[in-house]
Amino acid sequence: MNDAVNGDASKTATGGPISEAAAGAILTIDLSAIRENYRRLNARLGGVRCAGVVKADGYGLGAGQVASALMKEGCDIFFVALLAEGIALRKAIGTGPEIYVLNGLPPGSEGEAVASGLRAVINSGAQLRAWRAAGHRVGQRLPAAIQVDSGMSRLGMAPPDVEAMAGDTAVFDGIGVRYVMSHLACADEPHHPANEQQRGAFERLRAMLPGALASLANSSGIFLGPPYHYDLARPGAALYGINPTPAEPNPMLPVVRLQAKVAQTRGVEKGAGIGYGHTYHAEGPLSLATISFGYADGWLRRSASAAWFEGTRLPFLGRVSMDSIILDISALPPGKLREGDLVELLGPSQSVDDAAGHAGTIGYEILASLGTRFHRRYVGG
Ligand SMILES: *Cc1c(COP(=O)(O)O)cnc(C)c1O
Repeated sequence: MNDAVNGDASKTATGGPISEAAAGAILTIDLSAIRENYRRLNARLGGVRCAGVVKADGYGLGAGQVASALMKEGCDIFFVALLAEGIALRKAIGTGPEIYVLNGLPPGSEGEAVASGLRAVINSGAQLRAWRAAGHRVGQRLPAAIQVDSGMSRLGMAPPDVEAMAGDTAVFDGIGVRYVMSHLACADEPHHPANEQQRGAFERLRAMLPGALASLANSSGIFLGPPYHYDLARPGAALYGINPTPAEPNPMLPVVRLQAKVAQTRGVEKGAGIGYGHTYHAEGPLSLATISFGYADGWLRRSASAAWFEGTRLPFLGRVSMDSIILDISALPPGKLREGDLVELLGPSQSVDDAAGHAGTIGYEILASLGTRFHRRYVGG
């Protein structure tokens, strides 16, 4: 992970880049690993097209950088959650690729979506009418995906609404229906009966809609096998190195490394109270290191509770503070860890999924929570 590119891509709240020297922590994002993960998913898909899901700023890793890397692998369809994300992504990657807005367009925002060349994911009859009207205003058949709710009860047209439209294809006049899509609720549990139920419901619903390509699988859905692949897969998590097959070894490459700087080291005597609330007292003399990294950086107070240095586990002691965490470094030889040294929070010693497991959460939440005050280093571009 060297030959850094785009080293200035991190932004403070005021928009300036964060230098490595000024930052408390360094987030390294391996774009070549993201590309390899895309190739591995493509191999699974055996010729079925594969989009890239880059919502939530590319699961916290930078939507523009991730999309640009995927484009070098031939990916030319992207999904974001929000219109605002689509507008930003369009600026970052230019006019070529298709960008779909998964959550649908808020009423009245259709013109902004058209101006940025974005495609609506239509989740309701009202959204359908608004998109048709927007197309009428600009004299174009605007492209869209129709999302149906096959059983997750989150987004998409409900079955009765689809049934009501069946046979009245005039409601789709003026819209270029490119995909009919739906989303799986339990794809990461391959034996969950909801998967086949959703696939059956998807088949039934799409037969009532205008003929179009179909899309059902997220990352884990790809691993459910060809019946779930249809014409377009929509992976996110697996691209970023999160295990799409949680019951089995991770078939993806790790993508992120997160390291925090040691701000200070100290020794304390037995009985010393450690951190806010003195929730921990030293049971003997201890060597401590305080790192410049805390819950303001997205490390939830309940997240994985150790950092690593050259293979040695350094447990957190006491509470996670906003900007700092106290580590027990007594397992290291005295003087080994010094101010300015880096300890690892995510990387070879502790995967995103490991960190999530300790916290009783999922890798998605670990990545999407990552803060904005890191020095971001993109490698393998
Ligand atoms: C987030 C999302 C995806 C990607 O899911 P992963 O599990 O991250 O692969 C695909 N489709 C829809 C509708 C989504 O909301």
